[in-house]
Parts: sequence; structure tokens; C-alpha cells
Amino acid sequence: MTPNLNNLQKIMTPSSFKAAQIMGSNKPLILNEIKTPILDKKQVLVKVKAVGVCHSDLHLVEGFYDLGKGEILKVSERGVKFPLTPGHEIAGIVAKTGESVTEFQIGDKVLVYPWIGCGNCKICKSGNENLCDDPESLGIYQNGGYAEFILIPNSKYLIKTKIIDLEGSASLTCAGVTAYNAIKKASKTNPKFILIVGAGGLAFMAIQIAKEISSAEIICVARNLKKLEKAKKLGADHIIDSSFDGYVQEILSLCDEKGPESIVDFVNVPETVKLDLKVLRKGGNLILAGLFGGSINVSLVSFPLKAITIQGAYTGNYQDLVDLVVLSEKGVIEPIATKRYALKEVNTAFEDLKLKQIIGRAVIIP
Ligand SMILES: [Zn+2]
Ligand SMILES: [Zn+2]
Repeated sequence: MTPNLNNLQKIMTPSSFKAAQIMGSNKPLILNEIKTPILDKKQVLVKVKAVGVCHSDLHLVEGFYDLGKGEILKVSERGVKFPLTPGHEIAGIVAKTGESVTEFQIGDKVLVYPWIGCGNCKICKSGNENLCDDPESLGIYQNGGYAEFILIPNSKYLIKTKIIDLEGSASLTCAGVTAYNAIKKASKTNPKFILIVGAGGLAFMAIQIAKEISSAEIICVARNLKKLEKAKKLGADHIIDSSFDGYVQEILSLCDEKGPESIVDFVNVPETVKLDLKVLRKGGNLILAGLFGGSINVSLVSFPLKAITIQGAYTGNYQDLVDLVVLSEKGVIEPIATKRYALKEVNTAFEDLKLKQIIGRAVIIP
């Protein structure tokens, strides 16, 4: 007897699987056994090959966001409910498909778009589910990828890929797509110079993307010479060490004494934003993408006088991720995953992240 596809699918997936779950604020994650769900028509079960450990997961574990000046926002006030399987940077293999899914087959390598919205509002229908007012993001509002398997509510959130280093590419879905979105905004005006502030994982991806999709000269400013050298290796045309006096003038000199037309700030703290506002050219475009935050006093009259635009960049839409995956397949972006953990080591991964012992990105290999 030849097994039909349904029988094959049953063989591939166990009746239950392990997931690392947050059970309550500021408690270690627990490995729970989850019953494998029966798939609805459009749903897909993905075997998780790697899930990125994102800094924002740490807020979910701690249970609050620090708004600065002693103010906090509890994650429960944002609608997060426990128990929750976190993890929104997911790369995996299709394990089982709902009956009306035709575009994916068992065994397909996929990246998961996690920034799911309600699917029905005007914003979602325009293709920007990441900006929906009723988000249902994976790993935040519904169970994510810190698990052996993940249920994808609709096959339309998957992207088939031929990326060779699938495990190393999981963070494209968050860090990568944020960097891509920010650089797209920065290059809209066809600038001669783009200043990238910061030299961490996001900035590294942004430099590589900028070299590919814009013709601007890329200047990277940061405090850490070792990281700046890495930025140069990845394509930055100029690097500037902000731990030395005179770096502001150095930036201006590089940009025809007028400053860059676009700045992407991946740090976004008072000190860097003061620099941004000082050097941004008239009519320029400042994109804030860092999540460190804080607050500053600004001279309001400089906004109209310099006619500048300030905007934020956080994640991106599905199409951004599709475009980014194409760039990655072309080898434009070096994978940033550097440290790997097993699922049972999830709490160690968070500890290491807290202690800043991870350069690049940690991934969990369930
Ligand atoms: Zn993230
Ligand atoms: Zn919506």
C-alpha cells in the first residue's frame, strides 16, 4: 500500500512537543509539553530550526518596559498574556500543512513573518500588518518560536527560502527587517551621505543593505573602535570614533561642511540624538530605530528653520521581509547569529544577554 500524504504527515509530527514558556513576570521560563494542534485549513505547523534571542524578549520575561524617568509600562498593559511561548525570529521547516495550503510542501525551508495584525483593518489590507492597532504578533500576543514546533495561523506569513545558513538568518525577521526598513526610509531622497549611528548588529546589517540599495556614501559613527573596524569591513566608507573630541566637525567635513541628508540612529539615546540634530543637513531626514530611549530638551524653532523630518523605524512589513530574503540569498547580508543554545538553556541565554556577553545574536536551536 502506498502511503497517502495525510499518513505521511502524521508520521512526521509527534502528538506533543516541548516549548519554553513564560509563566509569569520575572520568573525563569519553564519547559512545557504542548499538545500538537490539529490544523485548520490555512494553518501550517513549522518545525523550528532556530529562533533568535531578541532583546525585546527580555522585556516580556521581566514583565515591563522601562519608559525612563522611573516610569514603566507593564507588558500586561500592552495585552500580553501568560503562559506565553516567546520568540519572533523564527527559521524552520514546514512539518505539516492545512488542507487548503498549496504553496508550501513538507520539508520547505521557511522564515516566518511574525508581525501579524488583525488582517481586516485598512492598515492590514494595505500590507502593513506590522502597524495594525490590534497586533497579534507571534511570540508576543500568541505563542512564538521558543519551541520544537510553532503553529502558523496562515501560510501567507511564511517565506520560502534557499538561504544556506538558515539558523544564522533567523534574526532577519526582526533585526534585519528593522534595518532594511530604516535604510529604505533613509535612501528615499537619494542622499549623497547616510550617517549610521551605532555599530551593533542592526547597524552592521544596515551598512550592508545600504551599500546594496543606495548609492550614498556611508559614514558610521560609534564609540568602539573594534566594532567600527568591523563596520568598515562590511562596507562603511568612513568610520568615526566618537570617543575623540572633534568628531562632530569630522562628520561635517566629510559631508561638504553641510551635514548628511539622512541619519539612521540605531542607538537613540539623548547623546546620539543631540549629535543627530546638530549635524543633520537642512531639509534632512532623521530615522530613529534604537530602542534604548530616554528624553531630551530640544530647541523647537530649529525644526521649521531647518525643515527636517524625524521618523521612527521598527520592524517592517511582509514585503520588506520578502525583499530582504532575496538580498540575503544573494549574499548581501552576513548572518549575525554567533552563539547557539539548546532549548533547555533558554534561561542561560537570557542571563548572558542581560550581562551583555553576546556579540552579534544568540539563537536557540530547539
Ligand atoms: Zn526582535
Ligand atoms: Zn489590522
